[in-house]
Amino acid sequence: MDISVVIPLYNEEESLPELTDWIRRVMNQHNFSYEIVLVDDGSTDTSWSVIEKLKTQHEQISAVKFRRNYGKSAALNVGFNIAEGDVVITMDADLQDSPDEIPELYDRVMNKGADLVSGWKQKRYDPLTKTIPTKLFNAATRSMSGIHNLHDFNCGLKAYKKDVVKSIEVYGEMHRYIPVLAKWAGFTNIQEQIVQHYPRKYGTTKFGAGRFVKGFLDLMSIFFVGKFGKRPMHFFGAIGSISFVIGFFITLFLIFEKLMSIANGTPYRNVTDQPLFYLSLVAILIGTQLFLTGFIAELVSRNSADRNKYHIAKVI
Ligand code: UDP
Ligand code: MG
Repeated sequence: MDISVVIPLYNEEESLPELTDWIRRVMNQHNFSYEIVLVDDGSTDTSWSVIEKLKTQHEQISAVKFRRNYGKSAALNVGFNIAEGDVVITMDADLQDSPDEIPELYDRVMNKGADLVSGWKQKRYDPLTKTIPTKLFNAATRSMSGIHNLHDFNCGLKAYKKDVVKSIEVYGEMHRYIPVLAKWAGFTNIQEQIVQHYPRKYGTTKFGAGRFVKGFLDLMSIFFVGKFGKRPMHFFGAIGSISFVIGFFITLFLIFEKLMSIANGTPYRNVTDQPLFYLSLVAILIGTQLFLTGFIAELVSRNSADRNKYHIAKVI
């Protein structure tokens, strides 16, 4: 199969018929073999019944429905797991992205060596309250990630070589930083394509004002993960262990010194008069504390990883 189009959607009943029709037109024009993977992120409108109906008319459609709203990242993650095309294209469901970009996106991945092609909505049809914070985000992400050639990390329209989507795990609010995840996974040919962007045709944006706070927290976690490896908290565990070992050896030394004095019959200082004794005590206590901090953080992060699992209600 040439192309999988993965579409996360939350309450987009009006756009779906138009969107899938448009995609079909483009695919047929270029003779692509394809599938459309619709991931219904717990819609509360009639999106799912619209999808069921569309599927009866359009055999390239497959769909997954979440039991509740888990967020765009979880929806993309499921789509990535299912997708079978050589090139995987993601697109928003609201008709703001244009399926007409698909042939060029495909060509860049198949023939121009791109691992990932990210759309750039150079001319953007969104309110200023959204475009200004987005500019700041992009600047911060560019400098932290070292991916200097992207203007628009969060564009919903992207294309991937199949390997890329099978190697990355999109969680939390990470859909805003997929190029960064791809870079960490070792995919370095990241390209940008200027894409057409339209105003939202139906309904309103599905993200509230909290999007920027959440996005910022994820940016921080990206920064920490990048610095300290996959498990940021191992950092504390490691420092704690070193401190503990230092304290332990000082104690051993003090005991050894005392035993030697007893054996040789030479006078020795009471251990509490030794500055080294206090140093070892502090080193052992701090070491234990830090080690436990790391351990607890590890438990918490595993638990929250479990919580982030999504429940799938239906598949067609
Ligand atoms: N979306 C989703 N789950 C959510 C929020 C949004 O699957 O919790 C989908 C939404 O239906 C759309 C895409 O993600 O297909 C982008 O959302 P939206 O257009 O609301 O974002 P904006 O264009 O305002 O950034
Ligand atoms: Mg939109």
